[in-house]
Amino acid sequence: MSDALEVLNPATEELVAVVPAATRDDVDAAVVRATAAQRAWAAAAPADRARLLRRFAAVVDGHIEELALLEVREAGHTIGNARWEAGNVRDVLDFAAGGVERLSGRQIPVADGIDVTFLEPLGVIGVIAPWNFPMPIAAWGLAPALAAGNAVILKPAETTPLTALRLAELALEAGLPEHLFQVLPGRGEVAGDALVEHPGVAKIVFTGSTRIGKRIMAKCADRVKRLTLELGGKNPNIVFADADLEAAAASAPMSFLDNTGQDCCARTRILVQRSAYDRFMELLAPAVEKVVVGDPYDENTQLGPLISRVQLDRVRSYVTDDLTVVRGTAPEGPGFWYPPTLVTGVDPTAAIATEEVFGPVAVVLPFEDEEDAVRLANATDYGLAGSLWTRDVGRALRVSRAVAAGNLSVNSHSSVRYWTPFGGYKQSGLGRELGPDSLTAFTETKNVFISTEA
Ligand code: NAD
Repeated sequence: MSDALEVLNPATEELVAVVPAATRDDVDAAVVRATAAQRAWAAAAPADRARLLRRFAAVVDGHIEELALLEVREAGHTIGNARWEAGNVRDVLDFAAGGVERLSGRQIPVADGIDVTFLEPLGVIGVIAPWNFPMPIAAWGLAPALAAGNAVILKPAETTPLTALRLAELALEAGLPEHLFQVLPGRGEVAGDALVEHPGVAKIVFTGSTRIGKRIMAKCADRVKRLTLELGGKNPNIVFADADLEAAAASAPMSFLDNTGQDCCARTRILVQRSAYDRFMELLAPAVEKVVVGDPYDENTQLGPLISRVQLDRVRSYVTDDLTVVRGTAPEGPGFWYPPTLVTGVDPTAAIATEEVFGPVAVVLPFEDEEDAVRLANATDYGLAGSLWTRDVGRALRVSRAVAAGNLSVNSHSSVRYWTPFGGYKQSGLGRELGPDSLTAFTETKNVFISTEA
């Protein structure tokens, strides 16, 4: 019998759907179709491509609630978050559509002729998406790739193929050419690997674990295949003693708990200046304890379940019995539930303080002064995001420049806006998504000199 993916509702463990898993032959056939579709798409007038992408955004907008409910069922996200995610797909498509007619090359002064550059599409793009934000992360790859004249084959994560499949249907409904955007649910080591190895796939956009990202990077090296990597994070939230401690403590819980901590930008290392540590913990502990964990369909719920039993076991393996913890509550019974958890008194080099747990767990570590804060913030292989809280503008700028991370926020925890660049330093990634340059990441620059002397 052919392979199939079982999609479970993480809040109930009920079977939601069984989806056939793509084989290597399916990937081969999809690449043939995508290659033909891409040629026609690249030849179409930019205004027509832009119009179709705007229409795709409009159709997504008309299905926000449906997509959000699907996300709640297959990923266990809270309904509020899921609506934001579907809206983000619409916005990213709209933003990318606005770039189609602005993807200009350059005219560069030379003697005896003219010199122009063209930004040409790469061809077929393979987008390999994770389960933590199935819809937005798919859109961050597919929208700019299509806008720049490419075709896209999206391989969603094994546990969350349903919203991706629905997006492919909505693309057709919007009038996008057949086979321009295809979705192939399947296993990473089969369909994902086939995309990475396929000579007809010009670029891979991968979001997921650093472990798999490294493996994909090594395989891409063989063909010098273009690659964008969005990998893990172990992001600091640095609280200086001069900060508004009440505001910092009130916002810290959801900065690591949102999406049940399954967020590469989660602020899971809370670094607090020692002179303010006790006061900060007095404020933080009750704020964590009162976070509402439960039914994702309930509008008041702040946290749903983890994605899977595998992820639940992984989170449990980090929070060993010998640790000092502050815990919130979580439902009993079926579902992959884990309570909000703060861990104190750990060595800054311990696994729980340096590795990505990807669950509702943060460590709190004290620091002495600015230099110590920067040293601790940078004491990890990751460098995706971070926050710092201070009333001193000079310090805010100094520390922002000194922390090696791609997305920092001062006196807030924002990381992601579709119109600003997003991506990591060090082992958190390679390249950037979103923002003003998102389309250029899906082009090759060609320079042409035309002699006027002939
Ligand atoms: P993963 O890296 O295994 O999976 C991510 C995607 O890559 C999925 O679509 C998967 O099918 C695919 N994939 C897996 N093996 C592949 C291969 N050999 N070739 C091509 N594609 C392949 O992530 P996971 O196992 O689902 O999660 C494990 C850990 O990864 C998490 O606990 C978390 O720490 C981290 N993670 C990070 C992010 C992020 O956004 N940075 C997202 C998901 C997971």
